[in-house]
Amino acid sequence: MEAVAKKIENPRVRIAPSPTGLLHIGTARTALFNYLFAKKYNGSFILRIEDTDEERSQKEYEEDILEGLKWLKIFWDEGINPDDPKEYIGNFGPYRQSERIDIYESYIRKMLEEGTAYYCFCSKDDLEAQRQYQMSIGQAPKYSGKCSNLSKETAEQYLKEGRPAVIRFRTPAQNVVFQDLIKGKIEFNGALLGDITIAKDPKIPLYNLAAVIDDYEMKISYVIRGEDHLPNTPKQILLQEALGLPQPDYAHLPLILGSDKSKLSKRHGSVSVNEYREKGYLPEAMINFMAFLGWNPDTDREIYVINHLMEEFSLEHCQKSSAIFNIQKLDWINGFYIRNKSPKKLMELCVPYLISANLIQPIFETGGHLAGIGGVEIGEIYLMPETKEKIDPIALENIIALYQERLKYLSELPELVDFFFKKELDYPPDLLSWKEMTKPDIKGAIEALEGVIEAIKPNDWARSNLEEILVKKAAETGPEGDKGYLLWPFRVALSGKKSSAPPFAIAEILGKEKTLLRLKQAKGKLQ
Ligand code: GLU
Repeated sequence: MEAVAKKIENPRVRIAPSPTGLLHIGTARTALFNYLFAKKYNGSFILRIEDTDEERSQKEYEEDILEGLKWLKIFWDEGINPDDPKEYIGNFGPYRQSERIDIYESYIRKMLEEGTAYYCFCSKDDLEAQRQYQMSIGQAPKYSGKCSNLSKETAEQYLKEGRPAVIRFRTPAQNVVFQDLIKGKIEFNGALLGDITIAKDPKIPLYNLAAVIDDYEMKISYVIRGEDHLPNTPKQILLQEALGLPQPDYAHLPLILGSDKSKLSKRHGSVSVNEYREKGYLPEAMINFMAFLGWNPDTDREIYVINHLMEEFSLEHCQKSSAIFNIQKLDWINGFYIRNKSPKKLMELCVPYLISANLIQPIFETGGHLAGIGGVEIGEIYLMPETKEKIDPIALENIIALYQERLKYLSELPELVDFFFKKELDYPPDLLSWKEMTKPDIKGAIEALEGVIEAIKPNDWARSNLEEILVKKAAETGPEGDKGYLLWPFRVALSGKKSSAPPFAIAEILGKEKTLLRLKQAKGKLQ
């Protein structure tokens, strides 16, 4: 690991997403690392939207990026106002590149004036021919420099004639050496670059130039970004030198790879933060998980909440080698945070999933006790559309709590608990059979269950009692004391599933009447 040489004080860092796609997990990871770095060293974290590519940039993507970062609670100090995206916060705005065109134009005109940039009139066909020629003589392709010696007058004449042009940087053919704070010393032969295009015209800058200008104008002192941008860094350093601008420190975070070691992409599953949100991953779990995508604190500890991360994060502990996106690890971390929720909080988080699965619908009861104020909510009650019964939040809490230990993500829940909300369960009668049980065996088992349950007094209707009584009965009834003989059909009759929470716990929530009804319905299936 490379030591960070200078003392880091009040750094200014940024995330500079292009709104050309949904918030990618890699962008969120980079945002998190910048955020942690800013927090740890008492600095500022800036959000800049790089939307100069008119064709590919879309407002919906910008919204998705802002929403995703807000959901993750990666809050920025400067940039687009999170409460009103038409406004900006901070002194270095505007923070959307599309609104900074005049600034770029003045730099571009200056470069053209000084001769560090020039107009290039080569057509696509021209460029292709140059490329093929270079390859044929064994050279790496780069711009040949054909237009670099056109006089200013000729260029002006061509422009007047309306010839299509781009603006190129007269890239110095020199070595670029810099100390990356994660990767160490990086050397790059600038002669390989050729004269790169920096703008389509003075009002349409391209990424490298716009980023260099903004990083300077916004006083960015550390550029922390993904390794995929490493090839851009020499270009940006040469541009800084040509413009006489200071060079920020650079840190390139390792790539995120899928489990097959190829670059993380849709093939590996979701790459959009929002998809994880919809699936029911918790923001604190995503943060914890993403922190490990390139940062390695050299301990066995795997659970880090944001405050610990802010304290312990450092670039020295960022790894050089690629990070692997391991979904099992994310599930494990998410499960941990789910288990740590209070039953009430977990219920609140799960309700939207139950609603969207149409297992419950919110209804609002009004309290007449507050005279004069009609329609006062006295609490949220839910309707189970299938049974037309009401269910209160406490009952929901109890149902969800049965699955708290095993939930990996929230959208798993509806399928696990649907039977609580149904009138009748849909399962094949064979499912009621434990081992070799025949239909008459199952019927006998169910009747034995009914007998025991009917005798339980309403006051004794509690999970522990049910368990005690039924386990005892099962041990007596089953051949060679096999408890499955009674308890398996019991579980299936109540839940319609092979695996579920313990049937005693389910029975406790369903109540005596519904438990008996489900047993009767199970018997009905055996006809
Ligand atoms: N707009 C670039 C991107 O979205 C940002 C690159 C940078 O951080 O310099 O990848």
